[in-house]
Amino acid sequence: MDNPALVEACLHAHHLLPVYIHAPQFAATHEIGFPRVGRHRQAFLRESLDDLRIQLRALGSDLLEYSGPPADVLMQLVRLTGADAIYCERIEAPEEVSQSQHIQDLGMSLNAFWQSSMLAPDGLPFLACDMPDMFTQFRKDIERAGLKFATPVCAPVKIPPLPAYSQALSAEMADMIGQVISSSQSSPSLHHFVGGEMHALAHLKQYLQRRLPDSYKETRNQLIGKDYSSKLSPWLALGSISARTIAAELAIYEQCYGANEGTYWLWFELLWRDYFRFLHFKYGTRLYQERGLSKAPTTHGTTQQFAQWSSGNTGEPLVDSGMRELLNSGYLSNRMRQIVASYWIYDLQGDWRLGAAWFESQLIDYDVYSNQGNWLYLAGRGTDPRGGRRFNIAKQAQDHDPRGEYQRLWL
Ligand code: FAD
Repeated sequence: MDNPALVEACLHAHHLLPVYIHAPQFAATHEIGFPRVGRHRQAFLRESLDDLRIQLRALGSDLLEYSGPPADVLMQLVRLTGADAIYCERIEAPEEVSQSQHIQDLGMSLNAFWQSSMLAPDGLPFLACDMPDMFTQFRKDIERAGLKFATPVCAPVKIPPLPAYSQALSAEMADMIGQVISSSQSSPSLHHFVGGEMHALAHLKQYLQRRLPDSYKETRNQLIGKDYSSKLSPWLALGSISARTIAAELAIYEQCYGANEGTYWLWFELLWRDYFRFLHFKYGTRLYQERGLSKAPTTHGTTQQFAQWSSGNTGEPLVDSGMRELLNSGYLSNRMRQIVASYWIYDLQGDWRLGAAWFESQLIDYDVYSNQGNWLYLAGRGTDPRGGRRFNIAKQAQDHDPRGEYQRLWL
């Protein structure tokens, strides 16, 4: 549990009440009519929270779940418990920034810790707000400085006891107690990811034991199966495992078996993940505007085209296969994400933000920084020096599914 916010809270608190708040905006429906958090994501979140509760209980604590506007729920909890500080992760995306601000405006003391990147932002060879725009330059600067990863923090061995009156809280906050979905309602993913740290660590262990990093560079663009890429993203997205933990295990792996192109490439992809995070320190809300960082006019597509694209009924077999995989499993390979996004942006002239919103609804590894960053990049509205990536679908099918196996699997 490489969780600096929790570790700090444990160090400073006499009593600690771990809470998860299901905010109403995540239960909302997009104006086009799909849920902001689709069934696969809900199921994965449910499993992750259940796993976290088991772990906290093993340390003599618990996890309480509430539904409601986070500031209201926290205000009520502060009133009932007399808590004098809130500890949480710092997230540099607009909704989270404004929620944190709101909590502080209400007079609560908020201690937010940046903790989702592989590298520490304050250890970079440049100020994060001044980072190079181009990924290649960013990577070269990081490599020149010899940076690999920040050391993960150890899990707390002991958690401060719950506030004495936490039983009474349940009664007083009855209307706020809530879970998004029960385990029995959840639909198992076709990819069989199970949420929670225990499963994340087991998955990483088998991935390394089977020496899969060695072949990663050759397999990472494949479309079918469990092993062509690490499949660590769902657990990374919810913080069940950290990028630092993965990079630290990868370094041990390299000491045992030797570094190679595969291990380097895995680290390289985790660096992309950091890059999209750190860009938020530089550009903030500009990354969320319709035009992004570009001045080019925007496109919108039609509602009917969106319905066809999102349900996998465009008539373009490779694209439809990808969109059906996403809909049915909540996961999609990086190659297919690029292909279907390019088709939506360039072939159908769709609004990249609507495509990103659909991914947000469906992907069990949905991560605000990576999703926004990749969509902007492909749409030519981020920092891509080439000004966007249009994929030739016929060529992609020939290169990555020459015998049509992937298409037969999903169509
Ligand atoms: P691997 O290939 O094994 O890579 C290892 C890790 O590196 C991944 O788990 C991930 O954390 C990171 N990584 C790999 N590629 C990228 C990338 N292009 N950008 C950022 N990080 C990367 N990834 C998400 O985690 N959440 C998202 O919401 C998301 N949305 C995307 C939307 C689009 C349009 C595109 C093109 C890519 C998106 N990605 C997103 C990035 C990438 O597709 C996934 O991280 C990757 O497919 C996850 O599978 P994996 O864990 O097996 O990755």
